[in-house]
This record gives sequence, structure tokens and C-alpha cells, in this order.
Amino acid sequence: IFKFGGASVKDAASVINILRVLKYNGFENTLIVISAMGKTTNALEQVVNLYYDNDKHFIPELENVRKMHYQIIDELFKENKKLVSKKVDEFFDEALNFLNNNSVNDYSFIYDQVVSIGELVSTSIVSYFVANNNIRNTWLDARKCIKTDYYYRDANLNWETTLNNIKKLVDGNSTLISQGFIGSTKDGITTTLGREGSDYSAAIFAYALSADSVTIWKDVPGVLNGDPSQFNDTILLNQISYTEAIELAFYGASVIHPKTIQPLQRKGIPLFVKSFENPENPGTSVSKGQVLEPYVPCYIVKKNQTLLNLSTKDFSFIVEENISEIFALFHHYKMRVEMIQNSAISFSICIFNKYDTIAPLVEELSLKFRVKV
Ligand code: ASP
Ligand code: MG
Repeated sequence: IFKFGGASVKDAASVINILRVLKYNGFENTLIVISAMGKTTNALEQVVNLYYDNDKHFIPELENVRKMHYQIIDELFKENKKLVSKKVDEFFDEALNFLNNNSVNDYSFIYDQVVSIGELVSTSIVSYFVANNNIRNTWLDARKCIKTDYYYRDANLNWETTLNNIKKLVDGNSTLISQGFIGSTKDGITTTLGREGSDYSAAIFAYALSADSVTIWKDVPGVLNGDPSQFNDTILLNQISYTEAIELAFYGASVIHPKTIQPLQRKGIPLFVKSFENPENPGTSVSKGQVLEPYVPCYIVKKNQTLLNLSTKDFSFIVEENISEIFALFHHYKMRVEMIQNSAISFSICIFNKYDTIAPLVEELSLKFRVKV
């Protein structure tokens, strides 16, 4: 399984580079999962926001996204432009029709119907382009196999149906191109798996097919021990254990989506993170029985954190009983706890105030504790 993210399809040159990577690495018995081109998902989100705010500018905004794809098509195709343009137009027209006729007020539902075209369009372009360059392939609509519930924008997978569908639809094809990030409900309504969800899609396909390996092609040399936009002396990790990779992804190393690793770990499928600019370099491998190499600390930068310091108001200590009360409140106010430290009479917590619920939380905590924010 190969996964190409937005940066690897951001313009015509990038798409040409995919061809190079495929020819270098081989593409037989390969399923290729691709994200939307460059910043398309953000642009389509903007379309949805304008529409939702009753702003008619959603139309020119959507047309801009269409134009951006046309430009890439113009650069990539000489003859045969008609076929690919027609297919791309169908997706844009469908989204436009949907918005013009929609009467449902559910933001997340609208979001999924519109934002999903990013992946449908990018995979269509890449599929036609590589076919023109002698890579015969089958374009697979991921919505026919990835089946989810109705939790729009962050849909949960129905594993059983999905695994069966994938096996059925993939069988007999050597090279397939499909979309990351998107799926559909049992009655065929489009859903999405959460931002940056294409890695997860690749893992789902890999699990279903008991793939030999998954390779995520990135604009970085592999998994580094810190975000290169934050640190200038990062080190490439040659290999990581599944456990370490899960922890890194869960706590915010954006190089891999957190839901990706566990399905791979379950079947012992190795994951490679490699540079699409230098496909000959080994990058990072994540697999069974290997330890972090080189053995260096890994850093994750978290912004907008709130530090709470609690101490008891009377002569009591902070022990299991009040800690469990404190955590019940964090759960209630949907705070994500990033780090904790406790002593006999004080308790410090670093939390992410995602839903802006710090005021009522502090008010409630203050009934029992002295609270410093
Ligand atoms: N295109 C989607 C996003 O930007 C999914 C992905 O790139 O993984 O979030
Ligand atoms: Mg992306």
C-alpha cells in the first residue's frame, strides 16, 4: 500500500514525481491511496463555511478550486484532456448542485458532501495521468468499500463490512488508485474520517488485504525526532517500534495520523515513511521487534496549553479520592489532559482547552481547591 499526501500532489510537477516514484519502486500488486491536492481540503472547507453563513461567494470560491485543478490538468495532459476534465467536472458539478438544492442544516453533513470531492478529483487526475504513462490502473471509489456510521466529519468505521468490501473490490486488480479520508454510510451517503485521515485509510486497506507493507510518501525524509518547522537540528529516526509510533502520533507528531498504527501493529504489517523527493533513501521503518534507532529523545511542541495548579483548602492531601473527582470534571468539560504532576498537597495539570470550557471548570474546582490558572 502506498499513500501520497496533499504535498505530494500539490501541482503538476508533484504528480509527475509520483510517476517517478512508482516507476522506481514498482507498482504491481499495489494499492495507492491519495489525498486531496495541496491545500484543497482547506479551500473546500472555506466553501462550506461561506455556504453555511448564507454567503453567495461560496460559488466563486468553489470555482476557484475547480480552476486550480484545471491548471494542473492543462500542464499534465496534451491529448486525452477531455476524459479527465469531464470526470473532474462531474464532481464539481455534483457538489455545486448539492449546495444549490440542499435543505439540510447539518454543518457536518454538508461538509462531508463537499469536502470529499478533493480526494475524488485528485485521484481521478493521477489515475488518468499515470495511465497515459503506461501504468495501467483501476480507479476505485473508496466509498464503495470504506463503510462508516453517520458521524459526519469524524465517521467511525464499520470494520466487518469494510473488510469484506475491500477484499471483494480489490480482488483481481494489480494496480489500484483510491481516495484517502472518505467513506460512506450503509445507504451510500458520503462521510469523512477526520482531518488528515488518509493515513488511516491506507491502514484500513492494508489491514483488509494483509498487505506486505504500507509506505507513506512525505515531503520530509521520514519521521524526525521533532517537527522540522520548530527545530533546526532534527534527527531522522531510522526505526521505531509500533508502541513508540503510537505514542508519538497520539501526542501530536503530525507526521502520522494517530489511528494509523494500531491496525498495522495487529497484523504486524511494517510501515515505512519515506521522502517522495528521494525515494531511494530508506526513510523510517516502523515494525515489530525493533527499538528506537538512533536512541534519542523525541520532542513534540504543543501550543495554547493551560496550566492549572490545585491545592487543598483544608489540611487534607491530594490523593486517589479527590484525583478521581478532578478527572471526572476534566472528562465532563472535555478537557484533554496532556501532562500531570502531583505531590501530597498540590496537583498540576497541563490541559488543552479545546472547547473553551475553562471558566466553568475552574468555578467548579474552586469549590474544593485553591486553583491557580
Ligand atoms: N485531505 C484531507 C485533509 O487535508 C485528508 C488528508 O490529507 O489526509 O485533511
Ligand atoms: Mg494532508
